[in-house]
Amino acid sequence: MKKPGLLVIIAGPSGVGKGTVRKEVMHDRTLNLVFSISLTTRPKRVGEKNGVDYHFVSRKDFLAAIKNHDLLEYNQYVGHYYGTSKSQIEKVRRQGKNVMLEIDVNGAKNVKKAFPASEVLSFFIVPPSLKELAKRIKGRSTENASTIKKRLAKARVELKLKNRFDYVVINDKVDRAAKEIRQIIKATIKQRG
Ligand code: 5GP
Repeated sequence: MKKPGLLVIIAGPSGVGKGTVRKEVMHDRTLNLVFSISLTTRPKRVGEKNGVDYHFVSRKDFLAAIKNHDLLEYNQYVGHYYGTSKSQIEKVRRQGKNVMLEIDVNGAKNVKKAFPASEVLSFFIVPPSLKELAKRIKGRSTENASTIKKRLAKARVELKLKNRFDYVVINDKVDRAAKEIRQIIKATIKQRG
């Protein structure tokens, strides 16, 4: 039987550029990574695609997924639900492929709890500074002032938890941060054999 794929978690505060770094990391096909498309009740942002960035679902459907035990983990984040599909992860791992999860600190904690340590590799992305982070969150014109404030407050709380992760990576430049992450993933895959 094939060894189940590695679970790679990328977490970090809102606005830190997790998505951009994650996409850059995944450009390297040799890593054999499949993105875990989460379910969310948050409205779609401009440029996002259903079934690619997220499965955008109604609150009713999300609550049904919880009830049916379809989610590996889920959390509420600034007023919306987000969760990881259990069946998607199982399918990908059964094929021996590695899974990339872009989730929040709480989700990362729950995934870590559910699997042996050797099957999970976690990264926490930090901004070069809090000032820079605030600039990036405010620069995202899709969010209103109240949401921006809540996301910034949440970011401050999340940053304090960075030491729970295997690696803390500074997103000073996307290329550099992605390269650092790719190297660590490669080394871990090699070590697992
Ligand atoms: P955003 O609205 O900016 O796309 O995501 C808000 C937060 O929810 C981010 O920290 C993102 O990583 C996290 N998130 C996305 N999908 C999931 C998920 O399936 N589970 C958990 N726990 N967090 C998620």
